[in-house]
Amino acid sequence: MKIEWAYYENGDDTEEVYYEHLDKDLYESKYQEHLYCISDECDAMIKFTHRKNGVKFFSTWNGQGDLHDIECPYFLKDKGEVERKNILHQIESAPVTDEHIINTILNKSKKLKEKEKRKKQNTRIMTRRTLQGKQTSQPEKIDNGEIDQFGSSSIRIFSLDSKHITPDYVGYRKCVFGKIRHVYFHETDGYVYLNLDNAQYRVSIYLPQAFYADPEKTTKSALVSFVDIIKQELHVHKELVIICVGMIQFKKGSQQDVNIHVINPSHLLINDMKYYEIITNSSVSSNPYNYL
Ligand SMILES: [Zn+2]
Repeated sequence: MKIEWAYYENGDDTEEVYYEHLDKDLYESKYQEHLYCISDECDAMIKFTHRKNGVKFFSTWNGQGDLHDIECPYFLKDKGEVERKNILHQIESAPVTDEHIINTILNKSKKLKEKEKRKKQNTRIMTRRTLQGKQTSQPEKIDNGEIDQFGSSSIRIFSLDSKHITPDYVGYRKCVFGKIRHVYFHETDGYVYLNLDNAQYRVSIYLPQAFYADPEKTTKSALVSFVDIIKQELHVHKELVIICVGMIQFKKGSQQDVNIHVINPSHLLINDMKYYEIITNSSVSSNPYNYL
């Protein structure tokens, strides 16, 4: 597994860093001991190596492998494939209610809107500061959803910016957010791709036929209307930020392209609007997350 992104954090100065963009001198002069796992929920520090032969890579700081969250692909780095498979199986088979998913995306939307406000009291910075020097006691983790009231409290669905998705996240259920680049509807097979922002990989939200299998939730013709509205809005260069929950899987026949499988219309929001709100309004409101 290759860690490609890290999060730089030094006081109020923060930045998302791609490993190829660093070199030894730059790393040592600025980033060393200030890089963390890109997942909000992880406290593990990330180390950059630039070998004499030019090879560059990120790795988890020695001894911090278990400071990744258990649902981070880098958590089990040293613990073997069997244990990793067990965890992935648990994630996949865990009962997750629609209410929990809806709550997760609504909370994520709220948090993205409030991000500016929260900067001054960044929970994540507090968490890491608390951790320094006492790594044995895990601080309480912040969740995307207030899950307890829905009775699925052991399941946490953590969020990930589409920009940071790599094939390492295949097999995990995530709350993914990102800008829609383009939309594709396959007429004969009846599925939809919403292609998202990512410089390295082709990352798409995949709406399979199952998305409209239950006519009480939506129909194929409603999905077609939805796709047409998204197309129109992209055509006039409106910024569309989608937040959704789904399993991340490889695209069929690929080891590079990844899809986020969304199987229910209530499992997504675009610019804070629900699926049926978009269809009813025949338009999407402007991007409420200004800084994204
Ligand atoms: Zn991590």
